[in-house]
Amino acid sequence: MKPHRTHNQDLSDVLTADRTHHLHPWHDLSAWREADPHCFTSGEGIYVYDQDGQKLIDGPAGMWAVQIGYGRREMADAIASQVMELPYASPWTSTTAPAAQLSERIAELAPGDLNTVMFTTGGSTAVDTALRTMQFLNNRLGRPGKKIIIAREKGYHGSTYLAASVTGKERDKSCFDFEDRLVRFLPDINPYIRPDVMTEAEWCDAKVADLENMIAEIGPDRIGAFIAEPILCSGGVIIPPKGYHQRTLEVCRAHDILYISDEVVTGFGRLGHWFASQEVFGIEPDIITCAKGITSGYLPLGACIISDRVMDRMTGADHDVLFPNGYTYSAHPVCCAAALKNIEIIEREGLLGHVQTVAPHFQARLKALEASPVIGDARGMGLLGCLEGLLDAGRDTPLEVQRTLGARLDAACEARGLIVRPLINMCVFSPPLTISPDEIDAMFDIIEDALTEVEPDFA
Ligand code: PMP
Repeated sequence: MKPHRTHNQDLSDVLTADRTHHLHPWHDLSAWREADPHCFTSGEGIYVYDQDGQKLIDGPAGMWAVQIGYGRREMADAIASQVMELPYASPWTSTTAPAAQLSERIAELAPGDLNTVMFTTGGSTAVDTALRTMQFLNNRLGRPGKKIIIAREKGYHGSTYLAASVTGKERDKSCFDFEDRLVRFLPDINPYIRPDVMTEAEWCDAKVADLENMIAEIGPDRIGAFIAEPILCSGGVIIPPKGYHQRTLEVCRAHDILYISDEVVTGFGRLGHWFASQEVFGIEPDIITCAKGITSGYLPLGACIISDRVMDRMTGADHDVLFPNGYTYSAHPVCCAAALKNIEIIEREGLLGHVQTVAPHFQARLKALEASPVIGDARGMGLLGCLEGLLDAGRDTPLEVQRTLGARLDAACEARGLIVRPLINMCVFSPPLTISPDEIDAMFDIIEDALTEVEPDFA
């Protein structure tokens, strides 16, 4: 029998246990057992505290998630009270008040006729559900050949098989065998890589033409869905050229291709609105996926929000139309209760308006970092930001010597009390929505100072 460990372990036991047994997402297997992991022990507002008692600004809000900040007693109370009342009910055979009420709230907050909600366990399963909805719809409509999904380079949609299959991050994809029979990728839309001779409008024309050409090449009757994040977040906060989403939606509508907007990061206030699709980018997608900010990360939950147009066609006039999709923890009552409380807090504290008010200051401080000789592009929107290093002469790949810029900047920021998220030659930021102007200044003062430390090695 294996030796038993008590739960009353001291810190070094915790770190040893982690190094020995805990395989983290996207773990570097070669370095895994050598260094102690960062262990966070508590949080308050926009700050987290680590094993050494260091107080750090949580620049990425966990993983683009903790909209309302840490230490919310009323979230704890809402969760505890639902646990005591009813911790679980099968979503197959029953409903609960939190699940029903949350579906109604989300339908109110979502754009246009997006009125039907299937709850999932997180973002990946929401994306899986959206894509399977498309498959189900086209099978129901008697067009089983209309199933190809058009996705985009640098898009991130999750880690389940189908969600990972539509993810366009080369490094991650090269390790596995994904569903490439049904998926095609459009080239990078990042305005930063646009050739100098092109205007933003021409860049947009070119990117819309990429979609049109791909549809013409494959044939519209073979394409079921186009999936796009309003802003490609894990790809490096890539903001599409003006008009891109409206025009790609028009193209999809013309060919009866479902437009799936993946708002796992942009939903629930990140850009100062409940959802970015309509209020920021002027589109009413057929399906929206969301997760993360729906509970501010206090508990895991995702949702796939489906339009009446799609639901009506899925249902038709027939009886016995079984949609065989869902999870044991779909509509988990405790997670739904947390989401309802989270929405209540965002509303009561006016956090959407707060984001709209502080975002210009956040973006101005971010843009000013382009003065650094190692930064090629500082971009963002709302409370989302990214610093990217310099590109090579062809403007399509990072400068080779800058491939560790993200990690070095991350270490330099952390030593000064700020967590950022490194992505090769980039760092991304998405702090809790409650961040004040003074805290924004504190955050960017640290980044400025950290840049002066790393610049000599990367300039
Ligand atoms: N879609 C997007 C846009 C995401 O950023 C993520 C996670 N970062 C996912 C889907 C997957 O969500 P999850 O990790 O909750 O499964």
